Amino acid sequence: MKKLIAGNWKMNGSLAANQTLVQAMLDGLQGVEPMAEMVLCAPSPYLAQLQALLAGSPIAWGSQDVSAQESGAFTGEISAMMLKDFACRYAIVGHSERRQYHAETDATVAAKAQRALAAGVTPIVCVGETLTERESGQTEAVVKRQLAAVIHAVTHCTSEIVVAYEPVWAIGTGKTATPEMAQAVHAVLRKQIAAATQHPERVKILYGGSMNAANAASLLAQPDIDGGLIGGASLKAADFLQIVASAQ
Ligand code: 13P
Repeated sequence: MKKLIAGNWKMNGSLAANQTLVQAMLDGLQGVEPMAEMVLCAPSPYLAQLQALLAGSPIAWGSQDVSAQESGAFTGEISAMMLKDFACRYAIVGHSERRQYHAETDATVAAKAQRALAAGVTPIVCVGETLTERESGQTEAVVKRQLAAVIHAVTHCTSEIVVAYEPVWAIGTGKTATPEMAQAVHAVLRKQIAAATQHPERVKILYGGSMNAANAASLLAQPDIDGGLIGGASLKAADFLQIVASAQ
């Protein structure tokens, strides 16, 4: 199974900058058989731009969030069907920045994953512990609780989700989990997924948190790391492509 390298642009970009960045990525992929599947998750106003630039290319596009509601009086929200309208293949749900700054609970994240699946959009479900939780030995319990909420809500289509392990202390800090630390958590998640679905081999588990061109190869070499969710390094074409090339 090919690995999945996902870029999360977060709240960065402009029409002009996106055009330059995406063009550089497409140029870099010319004549190359990509080592991994790829997706770029952009701020929603730019999804139409990504659709225009990426349709027919090896790079898919997706959103960074989706509403837990189907439609109606929810000012500012973006529904899964709207994402589908722009041919998004993926939607990130439960990113720690949403859990932290928008008070998203496990139940909200599960509802969002459900909405995405119902619309035919694959949720990239983020889980991960804070530094305090790691230091107090709660890492395993936290990620299992976060994933269980989603698995419980989507039982019959668990195999259609992507999971991303993103230790909060490693996000945007330049501190990466060592390959061994990441692998240990991925193995726990793999076991949990295997117990919940008939096709656990279809579920990719990505690592995210300061993954970059220099450390990607050693992380991606771990048996249960099926790809990466890349923040900062996805804003540089050369770095993103280098990570893709590391995914053997
Ligand atoms: P960084 O790669 O910038 O640490 O961000 C990781 C992340 O949060 C991806 O969703």
